[in-house]
Amino acid sequence: MLAHLAAALIALSATRGPSFVAVIDPGHGGEQEGAVSPRGDREKELTLQIARRVAARLKRLGAKAVLTRAADASVPLAARAALANAIRADLFVSIHLNSMPTAEARRASHGIETYFLSADASDASATAVAARENADRLAGEPELDPSDPVAAILSDLEDTAALQQSSRLAYAVQERLVQALGAEDRGVKQAPFYVLAGARMPAVLLEVGFISHPAEGDRLRSAAYQEQVAGAIVEGIAAYRAQTVRASR
Ligand SMILES: [Zn+2]
Repeated sequence: MLAHLAAALIALSATRGPSFVAVIDPGHGGEQEGAVSPRGDREKELTLQIARRVAARLKRLGAKAVLTRAADASVPLAARAALANAIRADLFVSIHLNSMPTAEARRASHGIETYFLSADASDASATAVAARENADRLAGEPELDPSDPVAAILSDLEDTAALQQSSRLAYAVQERLVQALGAEDRGVKQAPFYVLAGARMPAVLLEVGFISHPAEGDRLRSAAYQEQVAGAIVEGIAAYRAQTVRASR
């Protein structure tokens, strides 16, 4: 499998100029801690660990991988997509861990969700996830109009094409994550994520597990499990890219 993927990515690099460039965005950072596990692990630390593993694997396959933050630093949400635009990245992947607010829901909820951008959330739980992830907006970042947060983006033809590609990328990564981890498949969903709204390339936000679940939260802190998560993300990216190259022939 890995040799096949390596061949796919190297072929992509060869056909697309200097390199295939993926921007990997570790959710939160600095004062923005994200969610917290029952034992006190912070989302911002685990997302950085997983993002580093994803980047290392992409580099080993011949792709270029750039992190939106390489340390525990606050990075404005708008700056994350802006970085991807500035370096003309091929993909933007934001990595997060899910969380539930009440004790009962924290015990009950586990599994994986993958999101791409939409003005309207798929359902109430997608609305809640977007609200939590959007709360990181730092002082000074412009407000999104909550009644129609991404209308301008969605009306742009170029970005609508990117949105269709985002959907395909989301399904490819979700499928690999669920298969590799044997975790509950909570599906591909859409919601108005601030961090995705500015990206001018296929962009997805992954909730690779619930940090708030006693067992899944524990698994997510282990290096071996993080490697499995990272491997599945890279396989999903490679599958998406292989599909894209076939479609464009
Ligand atoms: Zn998050």
